[in-house]
Amino acid sequence: MEIRVTQSTTVGQKPRPQDGELGFGKYTTDHMFLMDYSQGKRWHNGRIEPYGALRLDPTAMVLHYNQEVFEGLKAYHLEDGGINLFRPAKNIERMNSSARRMVMPEVDPDLFLRAMKELILLDRTWIPKSDGTSLYIRPTMIASEPALGVRPAKEYLFFIVLGPVGAYYPEGFNPTKIYVSDYYVRAVRGGVGEAKTSGNYGATLYVQREASQKGYNQVLWLDAIERKYVEEVGTSNIFFFINDELVTPPLGGTILPGVTRDSVLQLSRHWGMNAVERQISIQEIVEGCKSGSLKEMFATGTAAVISPVGLICYKGEDFQVADGRTGELAKKFYDEITGIQYGRREDPFGWGLRIA
Ligand SMILES: *Cc1c(COP(=O)(O)O)cnc(C)c1O
Repeated sequence: MEIRVTQSTTVGQKPRPQDGELGFGKYTTDHMFLMDYSQGKRWHNGRIEPYGALRLDPTAMVLHYNQEVFEGLKAYHLEDGGINLFRPAKNIERMNSSARRMVMPEVDPDLFLRAMKELILLDRTWIPKSDGTSLYIRPTMIASEPALGVRPAKEYLFFIVLGPVGAYYPEGFNPTKIYVSDYYVRAVRGGVGEAKTSGNYGATLYVQREASQKGYNQVLWLDAIERKYVEEVGTSNIFFFINDELVTPPLGGTILPGVTRDSVLQLSRHWGMNAVERQISIQEIVEGCKSGSLKEMFATGTAAVISPVGLICYKGEDFQVADGRTGELAKKFYDEITGIQYGRREDPFGWGLRIA
């Protein structure tokens, strides 16, 4: 498929904040990629256009029945002026698996990657250069068919938008405070928890607000049946370093298969660590805090890479993780993964994909 490009006539007119003021999700670049799907024509009309609002019918099915899937990954500025992506094939594969779960059409992986590359290269001056900053990439698919009635739509829109994002830790690598949700749950087995689909996130806002009102940064989710086993933290996966074992909950349909999670597991095994995917109860964590056997706890995700946890609140009581400070292992994973992303370290697994 040919990708038609319509250049924006207002390039240079959007606000361009200093790298230190970027934050997350506040700015978008000059262009976006779009592509349409209809049953007869499959995916067609791939195009890059000036960034702008979408036109949707009020009965567009995504607005009523949540047929939506998305992804999040980043492009990194390299010291020699090049551009890296980090394991983009994993995000493409995951978006297609989310799409299958939501009965939406898949996108050809080569076309998907080419669309991202062309868009990024066109807007490459937006990639921030200072330490820890990057260009966030948000591919999205929505059911655009105008029709009411619950069934899979026959028309879809796929789009990709980009935005510069700041360093996650401008003041250093600080541990977070986590609130354990012992009533509300995120995902049930057999549900859509393992798909990156918008409804999963709307469902978390209520407890997220409760947690922040009480002074905590994120919510830790327990399993929906017994409220006993740990699943994820906010929109990140979770790891525990306990009794010299690196533990993360197994992917059982309720947990989002994170690219960062997979990278941490692969690295830990490469380093000869004892890394296991097993169920871990909140009781084991609380006891590990009390006894000191829990040496580290950290969350993993594209936005922050590694996010150390210093404290958890369970049933109204606070428990400190080890000395409450960032652990050595969290730091080691952070340095290694960001080192590969920014092309500063050797890349034994071939995770970096250079696009310029
Ligand atoms: C995106 C996401 C993650 C992290 O995945 P990465 O690929 O590492 O960014 C973890 N949990 C949830 C619920 C997510 O949406």
